[in-house]
Amino acid sequence: MHEYLLTPGPVEMPREVYMATQKQIIGHRTKEFSDLFIEIEKKLSFLLKVDTPSVILPSSGTGALECLAVNFLCKGDKFISASCGVFGDRFRTIAEKTGATGIYLDFQPGEEISPNAVAMAVSNNPDVKCLLLTHNETSTGVVNPIKEIIRAIPEDKRPIILVDCVSSVGAMEMYPALWGIDAIATASQKGLLSPPGLGIVWLSEKAWKYVENNTCDSYYFDLKLQKKYLKKNNFANPYTPPVTLYYALNAALDVILKDGIDEWFKAHKLYATALAEGIKALGLELLVKKAEFRSPGVTAIKSSNYDTEAIRATLNTMGIVTAGGQADMKGKLIRIAHYDDKRFPELSIVLSCIFASLPNKKDITTNFMAEPLKILTSEE
Ligand code: PMP
Repeated sequence: MHEYLLTPGPVEMPREVYMATQKQIIGHRTKEFSDLFIEIEKKLSFLLKVDTPSVILPSSGTGALECLAVNFLCKGDKFISASCGVFGDRFRTIAEKTGATGIYLDFQPGEEISPNAVAMAVSNNPDVKCLLLTHNETSTGVVNPIKEIIRAIPEDKRPIILVDCVSSVGAMEMYPALWGIDAIATASQKGLLSPPGLGIVWLSEKAWKYVENNTCDSYYFDLKLQKKYLKKNNFANPYTPPVTLYYALNAALDVILKDGIDEWFKAHKLYATALAEGIKALGLELLVKKAEFRSPGVTAIKSSNYDTEAIRATLNTMGIVTAGGQADMKGKLIRIAHYDDKRFPELSIVLSCIFASLPNKKDITTNFMAEPLKILTSEE
């Protein structure tokens, strides 16, 4: 039986990516590796619309977040953290470990971070050094209005803006330089369709200047050291990199960029919209009520009528592997990821398996027949 891995990371690798992982290892101090590294950087820069390279760390997304925290925050510093779920909370916990003090803004599960609330907090706390945000809150399936949040803060009053993009890069627009972000952290195993194990960090010019004049309390995550190894035409890693994952990431970026980045993002939105409509037609609820904040990468299903854990268990027996809720939402959600949108036919498999796993289908069938199906366009 084929297993459909629909967890929001790791995700099933496209065939080209899987094939790339089968290559023989090469030495990481060779020109061949440096060329591979440069090729990846060019593609990443294209994806992010930036013109400076990213730092690639052998770590998961949490490591990339810690890398930002230790390079930007020290004991006694102040930061603002806006969170609408588990991963926003995690970012602030990582930041607290530096000895910095946080000012916290919290939003309910399924709701997005409010630009006005963030702007107000920044205005009331002119001494904060950093603002911590999460682009795609994977625990609830909310995509936060990062561009609008930053725009709501006057340019000369902006703290250093650090954004967790672990579950957004590759699946939706994330243009840090164009949006005024100072640093992002992401990882290989979600929108970037690669195996887990690579953390990626990008910094603005302003952020690099800040880092150059700051002492970092980490040996491994010291960005000043990492930068020294990104020399023109000779890119390397200070420590032994997982070469196989670089092959995989390079192949995955080819898959993502092949038909044009706008097409790729549009297809993700269409897939997410179609899934959302199907879920509603089955009589289930979506956790995120406002369609514009629903993630193109992960959808959270809620139900007051059904035991979502029982549905997930049945789906498992059918080969559909989903994720459940986390923290306060534990036992209350089914989370389905759709990072590889090239598999539209799978949508009907997923929806029919959900239908088949519901204990009482009579009411749904009636609902379904009564409601005319909405026509979807790729603009929705
Ligand atoms: N932030 C977000 C938004 C995430 O989705 C995740 C992973 N689910 C993380 C951070 C942590 O990443 P990792 O598990 O790769 O350490």
